[in-house]
Amino acid sequence: MGRRASPNGLQTWLWILAGLFVLCTLPLMVIALVQGTQRYTEAEANLVSLRQLRQTSELANLVSAERGPANSLLGADSTDAQEQRRLAAQLVVARQRVDAATQHLQSVFQTDPRVVDETPRLHEAQRRLQTARAAVDRVAALPRGERSAEEVEHAINSMFAVYDRLQALTSVQISDLVAADREAAIPAMQGQILIDLREHGGRLASNVMVPLAVPGAWREPQVRAAQQTQGRLLELWRLAASHESVFRSEPTLSWHWDMARRQFFGQSLPMVEQLIEDGRRGVPPPWTAAEFTARYVPTLQSLEALRDGYLGVSIARFEHTRNKEAVRLAVLAATVLGTLLLLALALRIAHVQILRPLLQAQAQVIQIASDAPGTEQHATHPMAEMQRLFDAIEVLRAKSHQRSALTRELRELADTDQLTGLLNRRSLEELVRQRHADGSTQAVVILLDVDHFKSINDGQGHAAGDDVLVQVAQLLRSHLRRNDSVARYGGEEFLVLLAEGDLASGRQLAESLRVALRGKGIVLGSGEILRVTASFGVAQGTLDPIGWHALVRAADTAMYAAKSLGRDRVQVATGGRAVR
Ligand code: GH3
Ligand code: MG
Ligand code: MG
Repeated sequence: MGRRASPNGLQTWLWILAGLFVLCTLPLMVIALVQGTQRYTEAEANLVSLRQLRQTSELANLVSAERGPANSLLGADSTDAQEQRRLAAQLVVARQRVDAATQHLQSVFQTDPRVVDETPRLHEAQRRLQTARAAVDRVAALPRGERSAEEVEHAINSMFAVYDRLQALTSVQISDLVAADREAAIPAMQGQILIDLREHGGRLASNVMVPLAVPGAWREPQVRAAQQTQGRLLELWRLAASHESVFRSEPTLSWHWDMARRQFFGQSLPMVEQLIEDGRRGVPPPWTAAEFTARYVPTLQSLEALRDGYLGVSIARFEHTRNKEAVRLAVLAATVLGTLLLLALALRIAHVQILRPLLQAQAQVIQIASDAPGTEQHATHPMAEMQRLFDAIEVLRAKSHQRSALTRELRELADTDQLTGLLNRRSLEELVRQRHADGSTQAVVILLDVDHFKSINDGQGHAAGDDVLVQVAQLLRSHLRRNDSVARYGGEEFLVLLAEGDLASGRQLAESLRVALRGKGIVLGSGEILRVTASFGVAQGTLDPIGWHALVRAADTAMYAAKSLGRDRVQVATGGRAVR
């Protein structure tokens, strides 16, 4: 027997291959997915941090803005009640804005899990703010003549301290941002520079405000403080300009940049320089504090616009990066999912289109080979190769049917005598073996031989002899019971195997056959009618192989005894010897 290919083996191989495929590709997919997720979360974290930075800087800006009306109030003439009320109202609004922004930032710190909780630093700034506001209110309540330069300066400086606290907060946020992602370093630094620039722009106004508020206050410390702030402003501007290309890359930023340079550095700084110069020379200032503020603040707004524009653009860029990472991650996830789905689909197709048909084909081939009756539907398959396989199976089935028919025919030919259609000797012996195998032990046989047959052949011709054989066979068949068997045992010898009965009934049957034969006229092909007789030997014995041969021999002996006693008679064998 050759080796049999099992379709289950193919299925196992498919699973192994699929497993190997998953094993090889899954780590890559997982790595790519993890990296993609990391890049996305980093981008998202950067964005959150940068937004946070902007919120803090907005608060710082509002604190700076609160200094405007505070400074004006400190510089205002307390005898002008109306002006006093107007400035006080402005200050109330500015303070409300600061408080609202502080509240908001604090709630963000406490509710957004992505943000580092900097509430303690914020509280510190708030405490400073309360102290500074108290100082401002105390000085503002005094008549102008009673306000000393030191007191005014102290109030202003305590407002600066609030900003310094907030700046400590932004510094922490910036270093967090830089630590998380180096790419954020330049935008973060640049943002810090612009925040500082705006702050020092505000401080310069405050530096100038004391000498404007208190007559004759331009003394050396005030001049130095203003000049220091001025120097700081120029330095910050120089630092920002070292990355001017960043501003030039965006039209709106470029515009804000030019506006800041023209308005603040082109107009306000020279104006302050002039004030300092006049103060030093003892020339009275050309403007009151309020007038100065009115001129100065709009140019300060160009610094604010530059800072806010820059932070806005940076945030937009980070948003863009985050979105790009999100899309990339989605595409990656879809690819991974698609690959796995394709694999599952391939397995399913292999199962449905290859394995299952192969098993069907196997079953059909076995069915054809074992000649078992089965459903013979001619299946159609979507796969051309499978269709060809099943077409081939159909051809095999048709050929197998033909071969079976041929085999049946051959078996019939092998089993029957061609001339008479009776069993031949071989199939008779097969029948005996079968009966013996089925449990029969005893049997009665009649052996008969046509008398003087040679002379019929010689006298009437061989064809006439054949006619005699055919018609004797017909007579035998017609006289036998359903389960009796008759075979052509030799040339003109016939053997009848009785289904049941004993020697006496066998003899009886032989006798009736003999009488029938001698009474029957055999019609020859020539139309002539011929009378024939036969001699009969009857014997009883066993069906086992040895017993069977003895039984036939006994019947043969009895039949020859009938011949020698003058033919046309029946002889019964007893104990192996023929008796009359
Ligand atoms: P007996 O009465 O002693 O049996 O004499 P017989 O002539 O019948 O016996 P014998 O054995 O001498 O002759 C048998 C003849 O049967 C010889 C053979 O040619 C002939 N024969 C055998 N088979 C066939 C056959 O199929 N057809 C024809 N026509 N003759 C056959
Ligand atoms: Mg004969
Ligand atoms: Mg003979």
